[in-house]
Amino acid sequence: APVDEVIAALAVDVPDFPTPGVLFRDLTPVFADGPAFRRIVEGLASPALEDPRAAAVAHADDGVPGDPGFDVVVGVEARGFLLAAAVALHAGVGVVPVRKAGKLPRERVAADYALEYGTASIEMHTDSLHPGQRVLLVDDVLATGGTLAASVALVEELGAVVTAVSVVVELAALGGRDRLAPHAVHALWTT
Ligand code: IMP
Repeated sequence: APVDEVIAALAVDVPDFPTPGVLFRDLTPVFADGPAFRRIVEGLASPALEDPRAAAVAHADDGVPGDPGFDVVVGVEARGFLLAAAVALHAGVGVVPVRKAGKLPRERVAADYALEYGTASIEMHTDSLHPGQRVLLVDDVLATGGTLAASVALVEELGAVVTAVSVVVELAALGGRDRLAPHAVHALWTT
């Protein structure tokens, strides 16, 4: 079956979580299924296969056999960590965390973003990326895009380049893709 059908069959919709009126897509049963998890990891690692903009970036590296089109995977706390480490291992590159405020011990950069009520802050170590490094940014769900837009800002503040943003599920009605433009969003399931 196509990967979107695999995800849709295993994801569980939870009404009124975490607050009344919200339909929460719980992906933990998808990650718990071995064959499905493998499909997801392979799909997240291959944005160039389906995304024209990412493909253009990858084509710039023609002549480098085995180049996945990115030099490092950046994962967003916390569910993004489950995915980013596996994607990095699959692609043969390293993994770097975007963390909630207060977790990283050394010099760091921070970005604030809006939540439904109030704001949140995420951070990266200043030396965790190098100028010009090509980044694949990974998280589980793209909703409003606030979290990933803040993550993109941190990556770019460090001088690195986001070649693609890969997510398992894109909640299209919330407009996250537009918010991340012109960055390419690669979603395995858009709903
Ligand atoms: P955004 O910043 O509005 O795009 O929200 C994205 C963040 O909230 C991601 O880190 C997701 O893990 C989480 N999130 C939002 N909606 C859902 C959902 O329906 N299921 C699981 N996670 C969600």
